[in-house]
Amino acid sequence: MLGDTKNKFQRGMIYLFAALATLGVTPFCVIRYLRGEYVNALVDLAIVSVSLGNALYVWRHGKATQTTSYITALLYSAGAVVVAYLNGPIFVFWLFPPLLANFFLLNAKAALTVNALMIATVFPLTIIGPTAVESFAMVVSLLMCSSMAYVFARLTHQQQLMLEGVATQDPLTRLSNRRALDEEVRSSLEDFARNRTPVTLIMLDLDFFKMVNDKFGHNVGDSVLVELAALLTKRTRKTDRAFRFGGEEFMVLARNTRLADAAVVAEQLRAQIEAELKDPDGALTASFGCAELREGESVEDWFVRVDKAVYQAKQNGRNCVVAAD
Ligand code: GH3
Ligand code: MG
Ligand code: MG
Repeated sequence: MLGDTKNKFQRGMIYLFAALATLGVTPFCVIRYLRGEYVNALVDLAIVSVSLGNALYVWRHGKATQTTSYITALLYSAGAVVVAYLNGPIFVFWLFPPLLANFFLLNAKAALTVNALMIATVFPLTIIGPTAVESFAMVVSLLMCSSMAYVFARLTHQQQLMLEGVATQDPLTRLSNRRALDEEVRSSLEDFARNRTPVTLIMLDLDFFKMVNDKFGHNVGDSVLVELAALLTKRTRKTDRAFRFGGEEFMVLARNTRLADAAVVAEQLRAQIEAELKDPDGALTASFGCAELREGESVEDWFVRVDKAVYQAKQNGRNCVVAAD
């Protein structure tokens, strides 16, 4: 979700670079060709073609990949260095845009490495051209720009992780929340459409939970929910993920799992809750519903079916598992 924002930036950067390369480099490519400087013309043509091909790929696939981001960062960086060498030390200022852009395109460490290489490559140029003070100022300003961008990128990344946690985690139980479930469901639907990978929802609802709150207070109710979340996390397999759906309702998304197998998992969870989850009065139980995603079914209909299965389990006397047909 927040990763989408970063990807949007990367796409923007890739399109911008393709536009700049096409508008800025194509005239040079033509001029060099007409002058008979075929190697230079070929280099220019390569930059334009690769950046355009890259942008086209991103546009068709709707997102930037690690490879497309690396291609853009390296072309952009190498292009700036080549421009500086072709036109003299003063053109080192062309390094500033890629020094910043690399932090949008790559992870912070990779961007820092590419930037250090860029600065090291233009270093000889800065010492042969201007006076010592000017050279020093040039190198220091490049280093400062890159270091500040690095610090900024790290802070942004940390904030992004924190916001992602706030947005997708339930603060009480620390389980992933409904929003995270929606994301995971979307991805499992894509998996189903592409590879026919079966996926089953297991929903559980604590039985008579209102009574726990009424008898022992909200705090005891809260700690029961926290214990249940810990139990779900411990018991669900690596590929399954548990979510707090809301209130005292939880979901387990069992990927690559058919209905019958999910019902077995649900039965194990049910037995474990009955054996281990307690309030001061004794054992607590939960009712379970399972529904496997059907061909052509919408997420809404799938959720309705699993909800109905839980309702049926309540009707059947609670503390049991119902698999939706
Ligand atoms: P049933 O067996 O039919 O599911 O009965 P129930 O009492 O569990 O169902 P009901 O929907 O009537 O009550 C759910 C209760 O869950 C009511 C609400 O106070 C409680 N609840 C929801 N979220 C929280 C929470 O975050 N903390 C606590 N302590 N209680 C919560
Ligand atoms: Mg409920
Ligand atoms: Mg309940």
